Amino acid sequence: MAKDIRKCSFCGREAKSVELLISGVGAHICERCVEQAGLIVAEEKQVKGKEGIPSFQLFKPAELKKQLDQYVIGQEDAKKVLSVAVYNHYKRINYKPSGGADGQEEVEIEKSNIILVGETGTGKTLLARTIARMMKVPFCIADATVLTEAGYVGEDVESILARLLQVANYDVAAAERGIVFIDEVDKIARKSDNPSITRDVSGEGVQQALLKLLEGAVVNVPPQGGRKHPEQKMIQVNTQNILFVCGGAFDGIDKKIISRMQANAIGYGASKAGRIDRDNILQYIAPQDLKSFGLIPELVGRLPVLTYLNPLDRAALREILTEPRNSLIKQYKKLFEMDGIKLSIDDNVLEYIVDKAIEFKLGARGLRSICELVMLDAMFEIPSSKSKKPALTIDLDYAKSRIEKIQSDHLKVA
Ligand code: ADP
Repeated sequence: MAKDIRKCSFCGREAKSVELLISGVGAHICERCVEQAGLIVAEEKQVKGKEGIPSFQLFKPAELKKQLDQYVIGQEDAKKVLSVAVYNHYKRINYKPSGGADGQEEVEIEKSNIILVGETGTGKTLLARTIARMMKVPFCIADATVLTEAGYVGEDVESILARLLQVANYDVAAAERGIVFIDEVDKIARKSDNPSITRDVSGEGVQQALLKLLEGAVVNVPPQGGRKHPEQKMIQVNTQNILFVCGGAFDGIDKKIISRMQANAIGYGASKAGRIDRDNILQYIAPQDLKSFGLIPELVGRLPVLTYLNPLDRAALREILTEPRNSLIKQYKKLFEMDGIKLSIDDNVLEYIVDKAIEFKLGARGLRSICELVMLDAMFEIPSSKSKKPALTIDLDYAKSRIEKIQSDHLKVA
């Protein structure tokens, strides 16, 4: 029998060493290369839409929420609202208008930027960051308090986009689908509700500047961010598909909410007023409250998705320590595991850490610093200890002694 001298034209393997060799005009392909090529085609199809525009793997709102649940404790309303908003946002980006060929008028879906209202350390940044990670889009955080309107000392709003570009490795198309979290928007509120008051540099001017980004304009971005390099070439970034998530504590907004609700209660629907849950007024927040707080109506209009975060209670703080996928305690366990040590922490230690976070009024942010105080000496000594034990248990006495030592050291300094 004649020897089969055919080879796969892609990987070069001979006919005898493959299971299947498919022959075409002047070329052959083996089953492995077919499979490989299939995968490449599938991947490309997922990444590129019909017209070569990258499209997203769309998670349904319930899927998004389920993933958020793995990282963010509580905040059910915020997670639900955010999941729907993000789903709609990326559906809108994926949507390819048919050009009205079927005689129907095109419906243009407008972008829905988001505003999250809640005390600091309740998970606003965490929510935005987690969503960006799930969608695999560039993400950056900007602080509204350092922004100024053009011409004043401080950062121009364009610097936000410069940061996003940096995160996206200067891939403009990727940056144009990113998520930007703007923290502390409440700090740029107009100090007085009277718009005729002299323009204040820190407030209304910055809000006006921010509007430019939120409105979906093409913005010239200096790649280095600042104004120090006037000769640098500008990069044009279209903000139409960038999702802006704003966050703020809006201290004192509860009074505005209550007075609005009371004013409404006088008229129609007065009977509802009796059922207000006064412990959690933020749940009733409405766009007009943001206006009364000092955000200009145009900005409020550009942030149509409004939701709130609950203050974290004891139970939530306790859960945050151990439940999220990358919870603090899981991280410490992993760090010790890398040194070959099994770390266990008694339950009453976790309760104690929560108590201290509440006592110091540090909320979820404080959990980390308190854990650091408790773990510091162990993390310092154990890696170079000669008699390395395979297990370490942190009990209440040990934890207390660490915190009390630090507290007394602080008192001595004071
Ligand atoms: P905010 O933006 O509201 O000021 P962050 O999202 O920055 O607060 O939260 C600070 C840290 O506290 C987070 O990195 C996270 O570790 C923890 N944290 C806050 N809220 C939650 C929550 N609801 N679930 C899990 N962790 C949280």
